[in-house]
Amino acid sequence: MTRIYNFAAGPAVLPTSVIKKVQSELLSFQNSGMSVLEISHRSSLYTDMVQEAEADLRTLMDIPANYDVLFQQGGATLQFTAVPLNLANKANCIGLIDSGHWSQRAAEEAKLVGKEINIIASGANSDYTQLPQEIALNQKYDYVHITTNNTIEGTMYCQLPDVENNLLVGDMSSNILGQKYNIRDFGLVYAGAQKNIGPAGLTVVIVRHDLIGQVSGLPSMLDYAKQVTKKSALNTPPVFAIYTAGLVFKWLLELGGVDAIQKLNEQKAQVLYDYLDNSKLFKAAVAKKTDRSTTNIPFVTGDAALDARFVAQATENGLLNLKGHRLVGGMRASLYNAFPLEGVQELVRFMEQFEQTVGDNK
Ligand SMILES: *Cc1c(COP(=O)(O)O)cnc(C)c1O
Repeated sequence: MTRIYNFAAGPAVLPTSVIKKVQSELLSFQNSGMSVLEISHRSSLYTDMVQEAEADLRTLMDIPANYDVLFQQGGATLQFTAVPLNLANKANCIGLIDSGHWSQRAAEEAKLVGKEINIIASGANSDYTQLPQEIALNQKYDYVHITTNNTIEGTMYCQLPDVENNLLVGDMSSNILGQKYNIRDFGLVYAGAQKNIGPAGLTVVIVRHDLIGQVSGLPSMLDYAKQVTKKSALNTPPVFAIYTAGLVFKWLLELGGVDAIQKLNEQKAQVLYDYLDNSKLFKAAVAKKTDRSTTNIPFVTGDAALDARFVAQATENGLLNLKGHRLVGGMRASLYNAFPLEGVQELVRFMEQFEQTVGDNK
């Protein structure tokens, strides 16, 4: 097999050691004679496994005892519905920090279930190449929604904005476990697993216990209180995705946890940003250094045809999935936790070569 690097934004690269572990025990989980793909979610094989995964996640993110951890399905997108249904129950109004596509999707879905949205800050005037500058809090909101990392636009909050006494809810889909945040700063955090945690099919929700169970009559699958009571197994849970996520948690603990991986992520991102900032051909889409994401790095040449040629040649050279999101074009390198440093170094070498060739042909 030829060596490739997978720069996909999600589903994304997983640690090779985790995939090997999955392979090695796929036929017989815990010497049960059954595959993890076959075990019952009512068996102790499953309940022990899920308890361990939760305990490891609690350690990694320093989750206090008064927060529940849920393993859900439906992706981050279903949480765009579940969060407002459970938490926007007093003012019926959500303060939205509009930092790009995914925050707008969160707003659209909240409106569909009858919630009012107030945009309290927006990155629109910079075309979302910067995080929103100022926050205007005109009333008390049920919560303020923030997207901690903007997967498509390539901006990221290193420090959370001050939302005064409002409850903060975070969509952390693309930088959970890659960037350190204090869970106590949030009422709720959610993340689809397929970017920085594991396979698609699992969504992690972390919610402060006193916030749930305040609304009656919700569809059961969307009712956090019911999900907590049933330990996320109200229906058949995504056993395989939880199992794989659990292995990723162990891998991360062995590496030294979120602090250690964040340093590595910063180092990886720096390699690419340094090159982009000195290149005459390529340019980072996000110029403002303090707003730059470490996990998703969009860049352009400024010429769509040249961008396409670059992506095609990169692909031929084993640098896969560098095409930018269709909404913004250009290129995007996603450097999630499991993405190796050598892959970024290889990308930069290739970009140097490409830049050289283009220069020679001018
Ligand atoms: C990918 C992504 C989503 C959508 O996730 P699904 O799990 O596919 O629903 C939402 N928010 C952010 C920030 C994302 O990166």
